[in-house]
Amino acid sequence: MAQKRDYYEVLGVAKNASDDDLKKAYRKLAKKYHPDMNPGNTEAAEKFKEASEAYSVLSDPQKRSQYDQFGHAAFEGGGAGGFGGFDFNASDMGDIFGDLFGDLFGGGRRSSRRADNGPMRGANVRTSVNITFEEAVFGCEKQIELTLRESCPTCGGSGAKPGTTAQTCSKCHGTGRVITTQQSIFGMMQTESACPDCRGTGKIIKEKCSDCRGSGYVSKKTKLKVDIPAGIDNGMSVRIRDKGEPGTNGGPRGDLLVEVRVARHPQFERDDTNIYSVVQIPFTKAALGGKVRIKTVDGEVEYDVKAGTQTDTRIRLRGKGVPSVHHRNVRGDHYVTLVVQVPTRLNREQKKALHAFAKACGEEE
Ligand SMILES: [Zn+2]
Ligand SMILES: [Zn+2]
Repeated sequence: MAQKRDYYEVLGVAKNASDDDLKKAYRKLAKKYHPDMNPGNTEAAEKFKEASEAYSVLSDPQKRSQYDQFGHAAFEGGGAGGFGGFDFNASDMGDIFGDLFGDLFGGGRRSSRRADNGPMRGANVRTSVNITFEEAVFGCEKQIELTLRESCPTCGGSGAKPGTTAQTCSKCHGTGRVITTQQSIFGMMQTESACPDCRGTGKIIKEKCSDCRGSGYVSKKTKLKVDIPAGIDNGMSVRIRDKGEPGTNGGPRGDLLVEVRVARHPQFERDDTNIYSVVQIPFTKAALGGKVRIKTVDGEVEYDVKAGTQTDTRIRLRGKGVPSVHHRNVRGDHYVTLVVQVPTRLNREQKKALHAFAKACGEEE
């Protein structure tokens, strides 16, 4: 067994340190070297063990006085203390932690920690594209231009000047997270946040890559083709995989969500897969019946107006609506409201004809 360091030296306090000093010193070390904060780091685990051992002795007045008198010998095999050698296992320190930190580590051992430095998927990016009413009905292909962040080709995304490497942040030991403990009226309050020194990356870059200024990313104007499916409606988004923000630590890119903004149509209204429009017909055609031409998204269609059609009659043009964006081969209908027009200006000949008509109806002498 290697030569044991002096307990006061381990905690970095003077021989006459008060209980408070000891507690403060130990808390600082424990936070720094706690295994939860340093997964897989054996050196930190050793330091943690050493500090825990020192604190457990010096925080106990009886053991402290024994240590002051006899040094480490006080606790070695059948020594004056008689409690045998320490065999500290960091994971047995729960009770000491319970006293010291309260809820800092959740009161007990936490078996799993979020992998702060593991691969993380990049964030989704949102953009929008404007299309016409007809483009939404039948689908279309649109070019969009946007600025995508990509891994810097000069430094390979490390942010460090080529030939140099980023160093592990000494504040968070590369975890990118720091825990701040504060005394509050509810006891010890603990908050975990991104490390301020390395801004959560776990790395400190001494010499920055000049092309990306240390960010590891460069912005690149990119042209993308967006396939907009038939039947898409205003406000819906098209997802383009892997065109969002780049992931970190080898994680995949996020997605690009392209929100579709559909322009209003001068004649057509849309509700889901149905289209609505209004068509004016002369009162003569309403009375006598006849053909009218009706504009639809498929072009003009001819419709036979029945004799005696009243105003505001609604007709249905089956299958002339919007294809369903969800179901192939499903298409809505086009509803047309026929509005009967009464002429406002009549010439002499027309008046004469109408008077004759009125007379025929028995309305006039
Ligand atoms: Zn770079
Ligand atoms: Zn850091």
